[in-house]
Amino acid sequence: MMESALTARDRVGVQDFVLLENHTSEVAFIENLRKRFKENLIYTYIGSVLVSVNPYKDLEIYTKQHMERYRGVNFYEVSPHIYAVSDNAYRSMRTERRDQCMLISGESGAGKTEASKKVLQYYAVTCPASEQVQTVKDRLLQSNPVLEAFGNAKTLRNDNSSRFGKYMDIQFDFRGAPVGGHILNYLLEKSRVVHQSHGERNFHIFYQLIEGGEEDLLRRLGLERNTQQYQYLVKGNCPKVSSINDRSDWKLVRKALSVIGFSDDDVEELLNIIASVLHLGNVQFGGEDSGNAYITTDTQIKYLARLLGVDGSVLKEALTHKKITAKGEELMSPLNQEQASSARDALSKAIYGRTFTWLVNKINDSLAFKDDSFSSKNASVIGLLDIYGFEVFQNNRWEESNCGLYYSIALLCFQWEPVQYFNNKIICDLVEEKFKGIISILDEECLRPGDASDITFLEKLEDTVGGHVHFLSHKLADGKTRKVMGRDEFRLLHYAGEVNYSVNGFLDKNNDLLFRNLKEVMCMSENKILTQCFDREELTDRKRPETTATQFKNSLAKLMEILMSKEPSYVRCIKPNDAKQAGRFDEVLIRHQVKYLGLMENLRVRRAGFAYRRRYEVFLQRYKSLCPDTWPNWDGRLVDGVSTLVKHLGYKPEEYKLGRSKIFIRFPKTLFATEDALEV
Ligand code: ATP
Ligand code: MG
Repeated sequence: MMESALTARDRVGVQDFVLLENHTSEVAFIENLRKRFKENLIYTYIGSVLVSVNPYKDLEIYTKQHMERYRGVNFYEVSPHIYAVSDNAYRSMRTERRDQCMLISGESGAGKTEASKKVLQYYAVTCPASEQVQTVKDRLLQSNPVLEAFGNAKTLRNDNSSRFGKYMDIQFDFRGAPVGGHILNYLLEKSRVVHQSHGERNFHIFYQLIEGGEEDLLRRLGLERNTQQYQYLVKGNCPKVSSINDRSDWKLVRKALSVIGFSDDDVEELLNIIASVLHLGNVQFGGEDSGNAYITTDTQIKYLARLLGVDGSVLKEALTHKKITAKGEELMSPLNQEQASSARDALSKAIYGRTFTWLVNKINDSLAFKDDSFSSKNASVIGLLDIYGFEVFQNNRWEESNCGLYYSIALLCFQWEPVQYFNNKIICDLVEEKFKGIISILDEECLRPGDASDITFLEKLEDTVGGHVHFLSHKLADGKTRKVMGRDEFRLLHYAGEVNYSVNGFLDKNNDLLFRNLKEVMCMSENKILTQCFDREELTDRKRPETTATQFKNSLAKLMEILMSKEPSYVRCIKPNDAKQAGRFDEVLIRHQVKYLGLMENLRVRRAGFAYRRRYEVFLQRYKSLCPDTWPNWDGRLVDGVSTLVKHLGYKPEEYKLGRSKIFIRFPKTLFATEDALEV
């Protein structure tokens, strides 16, 4: 068939899946995605849900002209775009005075973070501005490179993978100008600081500093310009990434830090900490005959003492001993080599993790309202949620996905693995229930003195929930062993499939174990950032920090509350292939995502009942040319114009309803035919 003989739909598919003829067919759904993807049309709607396929190349669709095209224009009048969704949320916020949130989901590398940046850029360009507002806009935009430098890393799936979850509020004043912002961060993958899998890297900032840092800066920090010198940077055997230029990124990050309002002092202290982590990684231990560890690398201790502002000999002792209390007396008990290494790594993780939180707080200070005449209570808000693993949000029924959310995230914090969609009360209780859910048992085991270990935790689980129909471990009820499972794992039978969880490291991760004497050293630090990160209060037993799992449960409960007070829009991101390549549409991979993003269910819900709704003026504007009475203009009431138009088109009464301001169409094929009529 010649190109010209193809109708538009043959070539580019439909821009809303609701218009698909064969709407229950997954094959037709994917074929529509494929057609559009080949034409670089990466966006498609399911009603008001935006589906986006990562193009893995720069498309000319994010220019200022494009932004202008979407500004103030109704959803259906323009081709699908992230700007259309952004604009729609913005207008709803303005006209209906309802806070909005945008939930961006999809697997690693699908384009969530890029999507959230596009939304932010759209508001930065299209919203009203003044000098003061411009500062806020700049800071909002510049917060991204900073957060990404410290919170993103190259993984096998994504060269710029967010290793923390982010929820960001943008606050608007009564004129619709952005006047502030606030970021909540979740679940930084701290273990990456000390270990990376093959082909992966540590957080970008380390490489940026070493590759891009000025000579005298590196000298002062005691660093060499060679990433391969640092134990924490060699584990993944991946110092360079072709898509990343660490040196130029360094410059961007330095500039962004100043725009956000970090003083030279702040930056200096921040870099002291980053360099300290690298030095810590190079601290090595030898073993005496007795088995006790001693430090073999004094140069590192010298730098650490200076950069962290602590006493070198105290630090040395703290890295090789643990303080214990026996009969009311404090004793320093020596660690062996292995224990000392893990104490050192725990310190690195704690320092990095807390510094990251400090960084987010600092950014929040800079984004906070400064104008006294206007309180944040009067602000309207659009929130952006960009967290990997949030597929649980896939239906519109908030309350139901609620418990699945806690649950997936709580487990996610231990494994940082995608937990697929499930939505099942029984299994939520299994994880969350007070006293006898998995999290409670874990917390309890963490608090138990003596021989508590990952394995005793697993045994407790077997004793308590072993009989649960959704729980499996290697132990069978009759005392025999289930051969297919390891002795250190359990399996949960999720709604959408089974997932194995290895218990290795569960206790440590949940405790965020940092020996008390290392905490004490950090509390003595003269580094101005660390003094804010390590609170002496923690040293008193009265204030025992919450365990990781419990912290998440609580902070996610808060997030749910925030989100539920807002009107949601959904962006579902799809990754077209595993090779990070442009133009490749891997059908198997995509089918899988269509499944667990629940897109076919989305479509079914949309089509049930009156699937299609349009405001009268939009409908009339678009189709008025199809009826002599409404063309070129309809002077009367809008509702009468629409009524005249659809009667002329032969709509049957059961096919549509006229509402207050919108026409509701029951069968998409009706609208489909009308669309076709336009093309003739
Ligand atoms: P993670 O969960 O690992 O953080 P993510 O969903 O946030 O993944 P992104 O970092 O947004 O994924 O996207 C991965 C990469 O895909 C980007 O670095 C970019 O190269 C490319 N990409 C994503 N969206 C687009 C787009 N709209 N246009 C061009 N390239 C894109
Ligand atoms: Mg991301």
